[in-house]
Amino acid sequence: MEYSKLVEIYEKLSATTKKLEKTEIVAEFIKNLNSEDLQIVIPLLQGKIFLEREEEEIGIADKLIIQTLTKLGFSKKEVLDKFRKTGDLGEVAEGIAKKKKQSALFRRKLTGEQVFYSIRELAEPTGKNSQEKKLNIILELLSSAEPKETKYITRTIIEELRLGVAEGILRDAIASAFDVSKEEVEYAYNLKTDFGEVARIVKEKGETGLKNVKLEIGNPIKAMLAEKSLNLEEALEDAKEPAIEIKYDGMRTLVQKDKDKIWLFTRRLENVTKQFPELVELCRKNILSEKAILEGETLGIKNGKPIPFQELSKRIHRKYNIEKIAKEIPIQINFFDCLLVDKEQLLNESFSIRRKKLEKIIKEVEGKFQLAEQIRTKNLKEVEKFYNKALKSGQEGVMVKNLLAPYQPGKRVGYMYKVKPEEETLDLIITGAEWGQGRRANWLASFILSVRDEETGELLEIGKMGTGMTDEIFREITERLKPLIIRKEENTVYIKPKIVVETGYQEIQKSPNYKSGFALRFPKLIRRREDKGIEEADSLQRIKRLYNK
Ligand code: AMP
Repeated sequence: MEYSKLVEIYEKLSATTKKLEKTEIVAEFIKNLNSEDLQIVIPLLQGKIFLEREEEEIGIADKLIIQTLTKLGFSKKEVLDKFRKTGDLGEVAEGIAKKKKQSALFRRKLTGEQVFYSIRELAEPTGKNSQEKKLNIILELLSSAEPKETKYITRTIIEELRLGVAEGILRDAIASAFDVSKEEVEYAYNLKTDFGEVARIVKEKGETGLKNVKLEIGNPIKAMLAEKSLNLEEALEDAKEPAIEIKYDGMRTLVQKDKDKIWLFTRRLENVTKQFPELVELCRKNILSEKAILEGETLGIKNGKPIPFQELSKRIHRKYNIEKIAKEIPIQINFFDCLLVDKEQLLNESFSIRRKKLEKIIKEVEGKFQLAEQIRTKNLKEVEKFYNKALKSGQEGVMVKNLLAPYQPGKRVGYMYKVKPEEETLDLIITGAEWGQGRRANWLASFILSVRDEETGELLEIGKMGTGMTDEIFREITERLKPLIIRKEENTVYIKPKIVVETGYQEIQKSPNYKSGFALRFPKLIRRREDKGIEEADSLQRIKRLYNK
């Protein structure tokens, strides 16, 4: 398929902010594609060339793009000036390509495959001369592209496509294009977590194909989510046949085993197998079935007590010195669910049966590899005692689960309720920051927070936060944000939207100062939520509900 066809769609998508219109544009386009094209077009529409589960990343910094553009005929100063003005390297690239247009006669048309696979190639070179190799791949791609194509290729490479083709839009578009229900597409997606694959299945096998999607080892699924309860009494009532477990505050870990091979995935579907070698070893030895898909929470542990998630999260993105950091931050896993054992798929079994299977196949190693602590009672006094014990031992709260309920991937369906002592907080996205002054001159010291508009996928600013942080946290966040800086404007930097922070506040107010139309009074950092993707951050719609309340 010609890449220019896709560019026409990109243009149409950027001309509207309406969710419904975007859905129709995508549906109309994918309707007649064959299954091979679908598997390339869908990731290109999402601007997501690698799935979360893949270990590779594009990893191209703006700097390398700027260098490439100077090779295409502009001076570095010209490139930088234009970049400063527009804040969009895609547009800068387009402008340069327009000037060079005369050589277009000799060009062959770019295909979607070429773009997709060339960008994937960018992840390959490592070590010596890797930057040069990457530059050459980009140069070759851009030299054979039309100006408009150049813009979108550049944006895809730096992962800034921003067309708002979010999960909900893709789900609805696939449903509409192939005349199946949204629920069926969602069901298949929650198990496959790959829209390209879901589209292929529906194209080849229709509705039956979607219904027959099964759990598969090597493939992460979306976790079942908990609803919030105000108190234990309410949770006990709602859960009907309650089992109460400790809510551990760590990293949700999907463990998959096939004989000797182990996979570990996070809630964001990232593959973290390499980062936790000692956990892999424990799983190999102490999961007693040949095949298994299990869910648990991994905690960092020191002196028998859980350490803050912030600390543990240092291990999640670590690529080097893994053995060293494993010694510094020892872990413990607590298993709480079991979705597959050998040939048995257990999603539709009740939680009481799933827990029984879990107990059968886990050989506990005290303090390291264990089952989530659980009690079964409807007696409020006993539950209160258990809850207080959980808090005293440094855990987050409790989960109250319905023993009769099946497992629903990706959904908040009222099969489990969380109870924890915290005030209302918001999960917001860091989209910018300001450099500090005086003692804090080398750190980013104030963070611009944004919410997601569910309708359009846009991120809208809602406030600035500079409190609730120790020096160490400032330093850590600065290190995390620096590689994500998109552009600078005097003292302010704009940040690629990747980091979600749980934010406390006193009040939500209406405000003309921020694009969301709201502002937070006294926002303060509670903690980073590296376990959440930006699609899981709070929405403008929730802010409106809270404000009205
Ligand atoms: P939340 O993110 O607040 O909706 O809560 C759901 C998360 O709680 C899951 O993704 C798990 O990582 C975590 N969790 C901790 N302990 C448990 C438990 N005993 N049962 C289920 N989930 C748990």
